[in-house]
Amino acid sequence: MTATDPRPSHLFYVTRLRRPLVDRAEGIYLWTQDGRRFIDGSSGPVAVNLGYSNRHVLDAMKAQMEKTTFAYRLHFENDPAEDLARDIAGRMPNGLDRIFFVSGGSEAVESCVKLARQWAVATGQPGRWKVIGRMPSYHGGTLGALTVTHDGQLTGPFEAQMKAMPSIPAPTAYRDRDNLTMEQRGLKYADMLEEKILAEGPETVVAFIMEPIGGAATNALVAPDSYYPRIREICDRYGILLIHDEVMSGVARTGKFLGGDHWEGKPDIVSLSKGIGSGYMPLGAMCAPMRIVKPVLDMGGFAHGHTYAGNPLACAAGLTVLQEVDRLKLADNAAARGADLIAGLQSLADRFPFIGDVRGKGLMTAIEFVADKETMRNLPLEVNIGQRVLDLAYERGLIVYFRRVKGGVQGDCVMVAPPLIVTREEIGEIVSILGDAIAAAAREFGL
Ligand code: PLP
Repeated sequence: MTATDPRPSHLFYVTRLRRPLVDRAEGIYLWTQDGRRFIDGSSGPVAVNLGYSNRHVLDAMKAQMEKTTFAYRLHFENDPAEDLARDIAGRMPNGLDRIFFVSGGSEAVESCVKLARQWAVATGQPGRWKVIGRMPSYHGGTLGALTVTHDGQLTGPFEAQMKAMPSIPAPTAYRDRDNLTMEQRGLKYADMLEEKILAEGPETVVAFIMEPIGGAATNALVAPDSYYPRIREICDRYGILLIHDEVMSGVARTGKFLGGDHWEGKPDIVSLSKGIGSGYMPLGAMCAPMRIVKPVLDMGGFAHGHTYAGNPLACAAGLTVLQEVDRLKLADNAAARGADLIAGLQSLADRFPFIGDVRGKGLMTAIEFVADKETMRNLPLEVNIGQRVLDLAYERGLIVYFRRVKGGVQGDCVMVAPPLIVTREEIGEIVSILGDAIAAAAREFGL
C-alpha cells in the first residue's frame, strides 16, 4: 500500500483531492499506512475533543456492543441514552433539561429550527417562522440547517429549494476602525438584531441562532462582552427564542462546558454534537426546557426524528466521553493550553507582518491574514494564503483548519484547535511547524 491508494476510488466527496490512507490514531496523532505521523492540530473538523483511541471510551463501547448496538427508541428505552441525557441535562444552563438525540450537528440544528417553529404554532403564534441568523455563519449542510446558514458558496445552488431567512452581520468588531470602544461596538452589533426584527415584523420572527464563539465561517470569532447580554435582552423584548449552536464550541472546547458559559449565557435551545461523540460515534443533541417542549408534546408531539437517534452504542460512547472530559479536567486543560497556544500564535503575529489578528477562547483559536495590520485591509483574493498554509503544514505533518468563506469581511484565517488533551510541549511543536509553513507560504507569495 502506498501513501495514496493507487486503486481508483469510488468515494465521492467535496474535493477531488486524494489523501493518504490512515492506519491508526492515538492521542493527538494519526499515522498513515506509509508510516507518516500527523499531529491533529484541528481535531478533525474541531470534533475530536478527547483525542483518539481513549481506552475508557473503547472499553465502554465494547461492553455495550456485547449487549446490543441498537434498539429502536419507539420500541425500547435504553440505559446509555437515559444516562447520557441526565448527564447533559445537569450541565445545561437555564433549565434546558430535555434532551433530544440525533446523529450529528446538522441534525441537531434542524431539530432546533423545527422545535422553535412547532413551539410557535403550539403557543398560538403561527405567523412566527423566521429564524434570524448571522452573515456569515455555518450551521450545517442539510437543507433546513442551510436556511439559517449564511455563506453564498454553500447556499447558492440550493436557494430555489429553501425559504430565505434574514441575517445580521457577524460581530467582527475587532476589525472596525471607528472611535467606539469595544463595549460600544458589541452593543452596535447586537442592536442590529433589534433593527432586523423590527424590519421583518416581530410577529414573523420565531428565533435568533448564533454560535457563542464563531466556528467554521467566522474562525474563532469572539464578540465583545457587551454583545451577549444585549442579544438576550432583545430576544426577551420580542418573545423570540435564542438558539445557541454549540456544535463546535461545546463540550469543554473553549475552557467551559459551553461557549456561552463564558458570559453566563441563557439560551432557550442549544445544539451539541462534535465533542460529545468526539470522533468515536456519530452523535448530536438538542437541549431545550420543558417550557418549550411541553406545548409541543401537548399538541401531539415533536414532528421530527431519525432512525439512529439515541442508539445505545453512540450514547455509551458519549457518556464515557463526558466522564473522561471530567476525569481529565479537559475544560481546565483547554483554558491553560489555550493560553499557551494564543501566546504562541501571538509570537507568529509578531514575526509575520501579514498576520492581522490572533483570537479565540480555550483551544478554539485562529489567526487572520491581512495586507495591512493597521487598516485590516485584506490580501488580494489571488493570494490564496489560507489554503497554502494548510497544504504546507500538512506536508510537514500538521493538520490545521481552513475554509475560505464568501459573504463576510474577514480575510483568510487558519484555525488551530487540537484535542483538549494536548500538552504544553505539543502546543510548542504545533506553533513551530505552523510558523515554518507560514514562512514557506510567505516566500512563495513574496510577502
Ligand atoms: N453547526 C456548527 C456550528 C458546525 O460547526 C457544524 C459543522 O461544522 C454543524 C453545525 C454541522 O455539523 P455536522 O457536520 O455534524 O452535520
